[in-house]
Amino acid sequence: MAKLGRELSAKGINVINLSFGEPDFHTPQFIKDAAAEAMANNFTYYTPVSGYPDLRKAIADKLKRENNLDYNFDQIVVSTGAKQALANALMVMLNPGDEVIIPTPYWVSYSEMVKLAEGESVYINATAENNFKITAQELEAAITPKTKMFMFSSPCNPTGSVYSREELASLVKVFEKYPNIYILSDEIYEHINFIGGHVSIAEFPSVKDRCIVVNGFSKAYAMTGWRIGYLAAPKEISDAADKLQGQITSGTCSITQKAGVAALNGGLKEVHEMRDAFLKRRGIVHELLSQIEGVKVNLPDGAFYFFPDVSSFFGKSVDGKTLNNAEDISLYLLNTAHVSTVTGEAFGNEKCIRISYAASEDELREACKRIANALNNLK
Ligand code: PMP
Repeated sequence: MAKLGRELSAKGINVINLSFGEPDFHTPQFIKDAAAEAMANNFTYYTPVSGYPDLRKAIADKLKRENNLDYNFDQIVVSTGAKQALANALMVMLNPGDEVIIPTPYWVSYSEMVKLAEGESVYINATAENNFKITAQELEAAITPKTKMFMFSSPCNPTGSVYSREELASLVKVFEKYPNIYILSDEIYEHINFIGGHVSIAEFPSVKDRCIVVNGFSKAYAMTGWRIGYLAAPKEISDAADKLQGQITSGTCSITQKAGVAALNGGLKEVHEMRDAFLKRRGIVHELLSQIEGVKVNLPDGAFYFFPDVSSFFGKSVDGKTLNNAEDISLYLLNTAHVSTVTGEAFGNEKCIRISYAASEDELREACKRIANALNNLK
C-alpha cells in the first residue's frame, strides 16, 4: 500500500498517508545532541553484541523505575530494533513444530517470524465486541501439549487495545496451570497509553521467570530510523539471544546506543507531549469516523491506530466494480480518496482496515472527509 501510495504521489497526486506505523514527530533534540556527541567522541567502533554496559544498565534502571521489574543488566540484549529482539526470542526458543498462540489481530511480522523459526502459529480471534482482547477461557481453549509460547502486544498494533491489570491477571491464572508456556510480551507502545500507567505481564511474580519482555525506542521517542530495541529475559534466554545475534548482526549502531542512554535518562517530558498529541488526534479521528454510516469503530486505549470494521461495505459497488473485502476497500480508498490505509488481512482480520493517526490534525480531518465521501459513494 505504501508503494502504491508513493507511485500516486510521484504522479503529483496529494496522497494522505495513514498506512505507516511510525510517529510523525522528530526525535527530541537532546537525543540527537547525544548522538552528535557520541560521534565527536569516536564512539564509532564495533560494540559489545548485547550493547554497551551503560545502555544495558540504563535499561535495567528504566525497567525498575517505570515497570517495577527487576532485571540485572546481563539479562538485557540490545538489538537492531524491537523487531530483532522479537526475532531473537522466537529463534532461540522454538523447535520445529512448537506452537505459538497469537491473538488476532496481531502485528504482521509475528506470524512470519514464527514461520521463519519453524514454529506453528495458533490464532485466537479477538473480536471488536471485546475490544479486540482475548479472555482467559479463549486462551485456555487454544493451549495444546505443543504450546511453547504466547505472544502478544499491549498496547496492541493494529487495534490500540490495552490489557488492564485485571485482564492480565486472569490470563496469568491460566499460565499458572501450564508452567511450560513462555510469554513473549511486546511492550513497544508502552508510553502511548491513554488509560493510565502501563502494566507489564512480567510484573506478575508467578510468571516473571517465563516472560520475555520486548521494548524499544521507535514509538516512545520517535526513533524508528535509529534501529534500537531490546529484550529482558531469564539469563539463559538472554545468553542464547546474545549468542545468536553475535553471528547475525553483532551489536547495534554505536551512536544509536549512546542516543538510547540519553533517551532513557532524559525524563519523559517529550514522550508525554507526543502521547498528548496522539490523544487529541484520537479524539478528532474517532468523532469523524463514528459519523460515517456503516463504519464500526472502537475507541482504542493506546498506540496510534484505529481498526474500524468496514465489512458492511462488502458487496457494494462503484462504477461497475464490486468491493468484496478489506483489501478492495483499502485499495479503493487509496485510488479514489487518495488516503492510504492497510487492509486488516495483513493483521489476521478480514473485516477491518488499519488507519494510523500519526499525521497532522489537518491531514487527519481531510483524510476522514475523503474517506466518508468515498464510502458514501458506494451503492
Ligand atoms: N512490535 C510492534 C507491535 C510494532 O508495531 C513494531 C513496529 N511497527 C515493532 C514491534 C518493531 O519496532 P522497531 O522499530 O523497534 O523494530
